[in-house]
Amino acid sequence: MDYVTRTLDGLRRSSPGQGEFYQAVEEVLEVLAPVLDADRRYQDEAVVERLLEPERQIFFRIAWLDDQGRVRVNKGYRVQFSSTLGPYKGGLRFHPSVNAGIIKFLGFEQIFKNALTGLPLGGAKGGSDFDPKGCSQGEIMRFCQAFMTELHRHIGATIDVPAGDIGVGQREIGYLYGQYRRLNGRFEGVLTGKAAGWGGSLGRREATGYGCVYFAENMLAERGDTLAGKRCLVSGAGNVALYTLEKLTQLGARPISCSDSSGTLIHRAGLDVALLKDIKERRRLPLRDYLDCHTDATFIPVADYTAGRSPVWHEPAELAFPCATQNELTGVDAEALVANGVVGVCEGANMPSTREAVSCFLRAGIDYGPGKAANAGGVAVSQLEMQQNAAMARWPAEKVDQTLRAIMRDIHRRASATAEEFGAPGNLVLGANVAGFRRVADAMIEQGVF
Ligand code: GLU
Repeated sequence: MDYVTRTLDGLRRSSPGQGEFYQAVEEVLEVLAPVLDADRRYQDEAVVERLLEPERQIFFRIAWLDDQGRVRVNKGYRVQFSSTLGPYKGGLRFHPSVNAGIIKFLGFEQIFKNALTGLPLGGAKGGSDFDPKGCSQGEIMRFCQAFMTELHRHIGATIDVPAGDIGVGQREIGYLYGQYRRLNGRFEGVLTGKAAGWGGSLGRREATGYGCVYFAENMLAERGDTLAGKRCLVSGAGNVALYTLEKLTQLGARPISCSDSSGTLIHRAGLDVALLKDIKERRRLPLRDYLDCHTDATFIPVADYTAGRSPVWHEPAELAFPCATQNELTGVDAEALVANGVVGVCEGANMPSTREAVSCFLRAGIDYGPGKAANAGGVAVSQLEMQQNAAMARWPAEKVDQTLRAIMRDIHRRASATAEEFGAPGNLVLGANVAGFRRVADAMIEQGVF
């Protein structure tokens, strides 16, 4: 039995029922073989075995009162995967699909993503199966306070610095931060993604989406191409999707789709990003409301999806940006994208493409930017927020944006050069995983066994 199969079998036995985690591990292990062969230390020092086991997993109960005065109970998670390169760092996700396997896949990915930024960042992830949809502002605040009442004892500005993810934006970070401060009495950079008025970094809100588009720009530049005039398919309508759409528009591309849990919006003339931001970000309304202002757009509700699949990937376009959630883009979707002439796919979400979809992109030889490289802009600007907090300083927006651009360019260069070094030019899955792995693995060996 080969090494990858043996390791995955072991994982299935020791951590049953964690499909997304095995999937994330499989992607990494499959490309590591030549590195593990080239440097025996990695196997001798059991680096992979150590990386697969989080340093610490905190599972806790969150009990809170809803508006009717009923006691509600949710599960809370913080998986502190690796602190080899810096304080644990990674977002919090509030979504009913959250379970231990999802948080472990996200935390595992975060180790390599954070390593790839070149910044001092460990890897972690957390969250809850709490569903903010339909909750009042007061309920969300009480839930966040209850969540932090438990989590605060495990985090700190140089220990573990959570941020947002799906279901956790600036509002939730505010409630979480307020409760941390109430409990600890310290005004310190313990969370990132804070509002700019009290310790947040300018440009953090935009960072993941903007960074993803900068990454696509770098991929295209390698072929002497640009974003100008390209039709782009984007999924999602949350923070990552909105700022991907915004930057695409600013750089002369034409984004024509986005989606939310109610359906898919297609506007072939090019999406009105300012209106979308108003609907989704400010007024928190469903996507369908877009049609009130643009009658030439089409909205396909989830109930009309064929075989339950979003039509978002089945429109002719040159570029695709999956910015919604894991495994949203299947092998069938990938085949349709390639058949429709897509030249590049750049992932704003974490692991949005299934294994079949990734194989299809690599086989077709199109540009493919995996999430752990392409969406690293969010966590990178989080680290800039940590720098500003530690120095009690505040950077102008231009400085943040220039630094983000430089970081995305370096990530692309690093992944691209590593792919080249291992005889697979253009394979950024290999390049990103190997480059991230080597940085963290070398540091683990240098710091001794623990
Ligand atoms: N949740 C984001 C990610 O997946 C951001 C994490 C952070 O800023 O710590 O990378």
